[in-house]
Amino acid sequence: MAPGLVCADCGRTYEAGPNEPWQCACGAPLELNMEPALGDPPQTFDREAGLWAFDAFLPVDREVTLGEGWTPLVDAPTWDATFKLEYVFPSGSFKDRGATTTLSRAVTLDVDRVIEDSSGNAGASIALYAARAGIPGEIYVPTGVKPPKRAAIEGTGATVVEVDGARADVSQAAREAVAAGKGWYASHAWNPTFYAGTMTAAYEIAVQRGFEAPDAMVVPIGHGTLFLGLYRGFAALESAGWIDRMPRLLGVQAAGVAPIAETVGTAAGTQTKNELADGIQIAEPVRAAQITRAVRETNGTVIAVAEEQTRATWHTLHRAGFHVEPTSAVAVAGLEAYRTHGLDRDQDVVVPLTGSGLKSA
Ligand SMILES: [Zn+2]
Repeated sequence: MAPGLVCADCGRTYEAGPNEPWQCACGAPLELNMEPALGDPPQTFDREAGLWAFDAFLPVDREVTLGEGWTPLVDAPTWDATFKLEYVFPSGSFKDRGATTTLSRAVTLDVDRVIEDSSGNAGASIALYAARAGIPGEIYVPTGVKPPKRAAIEGTGATVVEVDGARADVSQAAREAVAAGKGWYASHAWNPTFYAGTMTAAYEIAVQRGFEAPDAMVVPIGHGTLFLGLYRGFAALESAGWIDRMPRLLGVQAAGVAPIAETVGTAAGTQTKNELADGIQIAEPVRAAQITRAVRETNGTVIAVAEEQTRATWHTLHRAGFHVEPTSAVAVAGLEAYRTHGLDRDQDVVVPLTGSGLKSA
C-alpha cells in the first residue's frame, strides 16, 4: 500500500492513486502522509541493493531499480574537502535517487504514463527509469535543450516535447498535460516521493563516514531536490541518534537566478546570468520556503557564483580527475568562495558532484 498525501501548510489529505493530485488545493506542494522514521542502524548494509539497502526506511516498495546508489566518497586534496561523486549513477546524475523511488511509486499506483519537465538531467533520469518500468514517459524540455541531454531522453523511447519560452513555461505546459488527464506528474520539484529518494544521499554519507556528520556540506540549489533531501535525511539521522549533530548546509546558486541567495544571503538580483549553470537556473523553486527554513535551522547560508568562477573551477575539476558537467562546478566554486569568506580549511566539508560531463557537450 502506498501512503497517501498530506499538505504541510493546511493539513488537507489525499488518497494515493493514479489520479492523486500533484499539488494541494491551497497551492502548496504535498508530502507523503507518513512519518519518516529510522530505526536502529542495521549491523550491515547490503550494498548490492544500492540505495535500496535503506528500503526499511523508504516510504515506497522497490519496484524499479538499476542498482543506483552508494556513490563514491573520495578525497579532493586540491580543495581540502571530500567529494561525493553523485554523477556515478545510471543516467549520470543524482536525479536517479529520486527517479528510482518516484517510478517505484508510479508502478505501485498502476500509473499508465508519467509526465516530467526538466532542463535535462531530471528528464533523462525519469525517462530512463520509466523505460525500466515499462511505463511510457513524456518529457517537456525548453527549446534549445543541450543535444546530448535531449538524445539521452529520446534514446529511452520517451516522447520529448519542446516548449518555447522560459523554464516556467515548460513546467506550465507539462502541468496542462497532467490536468488534461494525459499522465501522472513525476515532477522532481513537486513529487514528494522524489525527495524520499534524495534523502538516501545523507544516509550513505553517514554510513560511509562511520556515523560522523561532516561540519558542513556545500550543495548546489535549483529546485533544491538534493539540498532538501540532505536536510531531511540528516534530520532523520539525528533524531534517530545515528549522528549526533546536523552539518551546516551551505547552498550555492547561479548568479542572476539566485532567489534563495537573495532571501537568506547576500546576492543581488541584478547580477549577470551564469549561463554555464543552466541546470540550476530556477527562478521560483517550488519548495523555496522549506529550503530557506533548512538553511536557517542548520546555521547555513546561500551564495551565488558567477560564470567566470564556474568555468575556471570546472577546468580545475577536470584536471583533478573529476569529469563533471558545468553545473556541478558551481558547488565547488561556491566552496572556494566560502573558504575565502571564513569557512576554515580545517572544517570537514563534503561536496556532492551532481552531474556527469559525458552528456554536457
Ligand atoms: Zn494545503
